[in-house]
Amino acid sequence: MQLDASKEWFKKAQEVLPGGVNSPVRAFKAVGGQPILMDKGEGPYIHDIDGNTYVDYVGSWGPLIVGHAHPKVVAALNAAVAKGSSFGTATVQEVELAKRVIQAVPSLEKVRFVNSGTEATMSALRLARGFTGRDKIIKFAGCYHGHADAFLSESAGSGVATLGIPGSAGVPKGAAQDTLTLNYNDLNQVDKCLERHGQDVAGIILEPVAGNMGLVKPADGFLEGLRHLCDKYDCLLIFDEVMTGFRLGLAGAQGHFDIRPDLSTFGKVIGGGLPVGAYGGRRDIMAHIAPEGGVYQAGTLSGNPLAMAAGIATMDLIMEPDFYTQLFAHTAALESGLNDLFAATGFAGRVYSIGSMFHLWLGEPETPAQNYEQTKAGDQELFQKLYQGLLSEGIYMAPSAFEVGFMSSAHTEVEVEKTVRAFKNSIAKL
Ligand code: PLP
Repeated sequence: MQLDASKEWFKKAQEVLPGGVNSPVRAFKAVGGQPILMDKGEGPYIHDIDGNTYVDYVGSWGPLIVGHAHPKVVAALNAAVAKGSSFGTATVQEVELAKRVIQAVPSLEKVRFVNSGTEATMSALRLARGFTGRDKIIKFAGCYHGHADAFLSESAGSGVATLGIPGSAGVPKGAAQDTLTLNYNDLNQVDKCLERHGQDVAGIILEPVAGNMGLVKPADGFLEGLRHLCDKYDCLLIFDEVMTGFRLGLAGAQGHFDIRPDLSTFGKVIGGGLPVGAYGGRRDIMAHIAPEGGVYQAGTLSGNPLAMAAGIATMDLIMEPDFYTQLFAHTAALESGLNDLFAATGFAGRVYSIGSMFHLWLGEPETPAQNYEQTKAGDQELFQKLYQGLLSEGIYMAPSAFEVGFMSSAHTEVEVEKTVRAFKNSIAKL
């Protein structure tokens, strides 16, 4: 595979951008080689600046649930930009997107749009603290909630795990001292923690299916147990659905598991590939946000008309009847196709999926990982070797063993078969 243009431009990138990238997980540190600069996306495919084509399972890290450059999203964006790129005023479009999101997710009564998932979780945390008058927050090791100080205390998910660092420099002790980090799926530990700190805990935030430490599903009763404990201690249950939102069905993980959180955060799919995040929930809680209430949160470009247009077009596509049937079937077909191949070749790996997300676990396939400690035990070296093989076979996966893959409605049996074939060839060359 020829990557001359990518190599040349990455050299230039390193002169002007820290590490040559604008987000650390793009840096290929965990897989060797160097980042590939992309030029164009079409449906399930992405093309680099050297003219190589890949089946894309990154999908811009989740947003592109209808694939690259879907004609309806492109048309909506073209129409919106012709009318001006931003007004900084109230618009019809933000009401239209809010109506769709609230219709899709039953726990939402009101929603506030922001510009990223990080902003959404950061603001939801402030709101939880403002609403309850308490400072402490419980999070789980390996869950990523964006890069706000309070969430980067320790074991903050895939980005830092990929780099092999525990958290981040530059986080003042004070900013993270109220963050209590517990083990995912350990309800007993949460119970004990709340016994001790319950009166000071504003809320529990988690990825209801963790997708930033590989793929870790909630154990039976875990989410129900958290709901119960939040009710008992009068603190808020916050589902960070930035990744799972609209990925596990229209109502996200909360719909899939039938649990009603008090607040939820969104990003990725909600903006159809443009920068949008959102947080929302119960009306009485949301009433605490300025200008209705005293919790301040604002944004120059929040509810930007281009982002709203891409979000509305994407929501309209995913709200079509049967949208998820094919999407989930293709994800399940990829999971079973690869697991059959691994079993037939004696390859030490296993694919786990849920909805339209999947993860490639490398190592002895015992029982699925339940928490960060277990998921860290995956075979990183094998991942690196396999990753390079897959790239040269035209498969673009996230360059980290801790990241999940995303299926889009543009992927078909053709891409699934191509992917299984590419794995077969790459495994044979290991
Ligand atoms: N929360 C979760 C669960 C995420 O997966 C991410 C990003 O991957 C974020 C929050 C942060 O979102 P953003 O990268 O848009 O700031």
